[in-house]
Formats: sequence, C-alpha cells, structure tokens
Amino acid sequence: MARFPHGVLVAGGGIAGATLALALARHGVPVRLLERDATWRPVSAGMFLYANGLAALERVGVLDQVLAAGWASPDGRNPMLDQQGGLITELHYPRIGGAHVPPILGILRAELHRVLADAMREAQVPVLLGHAVTGVEDTPGAPLRAIMADGSALEADMLIGADGIRSALRGVLFPGVEPEFSGFGVWRSMHDRPAALDAKIMMMGVGKRLGIMPISGQRLYVFATSREPENPWYERAEWHRLMRAKFADFAGPATRFLDELTDPAQVVYTPVEEVRLALPWHRGRVGLIGDAAHAATPFMGQGGAMAIEDAVVLAGMLAEAGPAPAVLEAFGARRHARCTLVQDASRRVGEAGAIEDEAACAARDARLRETGQAMVDGFYARMAEPPG
Ligand SMILES: Cc1cc2nc3c(=O)[nH]c(=O)nc-3n(C[C@H](O)[C@H](O)[C@H](O)COP(=O)(O)OP(=O)(O)OC[C@H]3O[C@@H](n4cnc5c(N)ncnc54)[C@H](O)[C@@H]3O)c2cc1C
Repeated sequence: MARFPHGVLVAGGGIAGATLALALARHGVPVRLLERDATWRPVSAGMFLYANGLAALERVGVLDQVLAAGWASPDGRNPMLDQQGGLITELHYPRIGGAHVPPILGILRAELHRVLADAMREAQVPVLLGHAVTGVEDTPGAPLRAIMADGSALEADMLIGADGIRSALRGVLFPGVEPEFSGFGVWRSMHDRPAALDAKIMMMGVGKRLGIMPISGQRLYVFATSREPENPWYERAEWHRLMRAKFADFAGPATRFLDELTDPAQVVYTPVEEVRLALPWHRGRVGLIGDAAHAATPFMGQGGAMAIEDAVVLAGMLAEAGPAPAVLEAFGARRHARCTLVQDASRRVGEAGAIEDEAACAARDARLRETGQAMVDGFYARMAEPPG
C-alpha cells in the first residue's frame, strides 16, 4: 500500500496486538507483529467475552472459530447466589451484537490465541517471535525505528504498543505511569465441567466472591476474588491450599471444585492492577492500545473486549487515513471515555463484591434483586453503542 511504504509494526502479540495485526491485514495494510516471548504461550486460564467483544471479533472474521472453540451461553443466564449457594436473583446478559452473537462466551485464553494466530497465518501476517521492543527513534521525515532488546532496529511508518499492562513502550512515551495495585487478588482454576452446569454462576460472599463459568463442552473455570490490601507475596507452591482456605466458607456449587484443588499447577493467582493513562495515548507516530493504555480490573470481564475493540477501531482509522499522528490523536479521543467507563464500572463491581459487613452484604443482595437487571441492561446498552 503506497501510503504505508514501511508498514505498521505492532509490539505485543496478546489479544490487542494479534487482533490489530489481523484487522490491519484484512484492510490490506502491511503489518508485522513483534512478540517478546520466543514460545508465545498465554497464561492457561479461562476468560469471558461479552457480546461487544464478540461483535468486534466478527469484524475481523473470526467469530465462528471463536464460538466453536469456547462455550457460548444461549440465553446469557447468570444466577447470582449467596455464599451458601442460595439464589439471590437471576440476571440475564443481553444480546447486543445481533441474533448470531451470543450474550457471553467462556473460552480458554490459549484457544482465543490459537484462533487469532491461525487467522494471522492464513492472512500471511509476519510474526517475529523473540522480539522485545525496548525503544523507538521517531525523527520527522525519516522512517520510524523500533529498537529491540538486542540493539537491532526495524523501520516502519507507525509503531503500536500492544505490549500489555507493563508496557515498555508506555515507559518510553510516558515515564512514570505505572500499574497501580487495586487492593484485590484473583484466584483462577480449571476443572472438568459437569454437563448440567450450563450458565455463568456468581456467588456473592462476605468480603469475597466466586464465579464458575463453562469454557467448552468439557471444561470450566473458577475465578474468585479476595481483598489483599497489603499486596502480599504468595509462594506458588501454596496457591492451591490458599485458594481452598480463602474460599472454604463457600458452599453449594463451589464445594466440589474447591475440593478438587490438590496441586499448585491447578491455580493461577494474580494481584489485580489498573493503568489510568490520561490522553494522549500516543507521541508522534507511536501509539498505545489495550492494557498498555487502559488496563482495567477484571470484575466486568471487559479488558479483553476493550483490547479487541481498540484494535478494530484503530485498524479502520489507519486504513482510511494513513499512518499520521493525527489518527492516533483521534483514536484516543474516540476510545478514552468508553474504556474509562469500563474501568469505573469494574471498580464498583469489585468493591460491591468485597463488602465485609454482613448487614451491608444483605443490603447489597437486596439491591441486586431490585435493580441488578436494570444495571446490567444499562451497562450493555452503552456497550451496544459503536465502539469508537
Ligand atoms: C485475573 C484477570 C482476569 C481477567 N479476565 C478477563 C475476562 O474474563 N475477559 C476479558 O475480556 N478480559 C479479562 N481480563 C483482562 C484481559 O486479560 C486484558 O485486558 C487483555 O489480556 C489485554 O490484552 P493486551 O493484548 O493489551 O495485553 P496482554 O494480553 O498482556 O498481551 C501483551 C503481549 O505483549 C507481549 N509483550 C510484552 N512486552 C513486550 C515488548 N516489550 N515487546 C514485544 N512484546 C511484548 C507479551 O508477551 C504479551 O504477549 C482479565 C485480567 C486479569 C488480570
């Protein structure tokens, strides 16, 4: 493409970077994907994708493959249970992406990654593994130079940092903007799925919450949130014992899965962090997308969807207008409010799930019964709006 003599470089082959590389290739924009890891293996855990993220994946032509690789909820049903397993209320996630887009999908991260990698291979996107971008030289009038950890450089018309929450490129563009610890930790484990378990289940405990979500016909994952105000260091060898102990007061559907935790390899513990980067999200011809720009707490399960939407919106804008810094400026302006809305909503959900006073928990559960569905509908009405 004449407007892109040197092409676009995307740093980071996670959800944002892989989707952006694919979306640019679909538009005929020359692109190379640079991934730091030589083996390129995402963390082995499940995740949700809600309808807005799925609709964005449809725009890059991989919705059917993603649906086949995960577990799509037919009706978006989400029973909300108390700590003992008693029903508080039943919520429904709405369909917002069209009749063929389910309200919510559970999927193994590695499977989403595989689908994106397969599609990139078919689209002949060059993927350069073992390429950690550490710097950039952006001299007007000359091709931009992305500098690798080994000192080598690659030339491009534009460089997009999709290098995650600890983005090296954010450190170069905006020194001092670091992830902030949220005060929460998330415990995740994988299990065989009983055939009858056919909905996302959320259990609201005292000071904690625990969820269960199918990710395929055979497997499900459990995710549980605890307050961790001091951000303690937990030995990996203890993760399974800690998860069992911290959530031992959960009964009902949680019991059998907690009892299955016998090996630390079954559990991933993640201290939850957030990145709040004010606009601009770019300098010159270098821009940031995904967690590098706006990592959210995971309590809405929307971080991946925001990364996918970023990629689809930015690819469309670059294909239309070429690799100008003004495109990156306009991109930030189009995406900032929506990503901030998700960050704010997610913090509120996290706080509501961590109320420690029993009377306040009862009041929260009563509010869930009365207004929970209206809150879900209101949030997804916003997510049904164009992503940018
Ligand atoms: C506990 C937890 C649960 C979550 N659950 C959900 C969920 O259910 N649904 C959802 O939508 N979101 C969820 N999220 C959020 C979601 O994981 C992130 O928003 C999403 O992964 C962001 O994608 P990304 O591509 O921006 O970053 P990442 O997925 O982190 O990818 C960054 C990539 O860049 C590479 N990289 C890093 N540095 C460099 C460099 N210098 N040069 C080249 N490559 C580099 C990394 O190796 C990696 O491949 C969750 C997050 C957490 C912490």
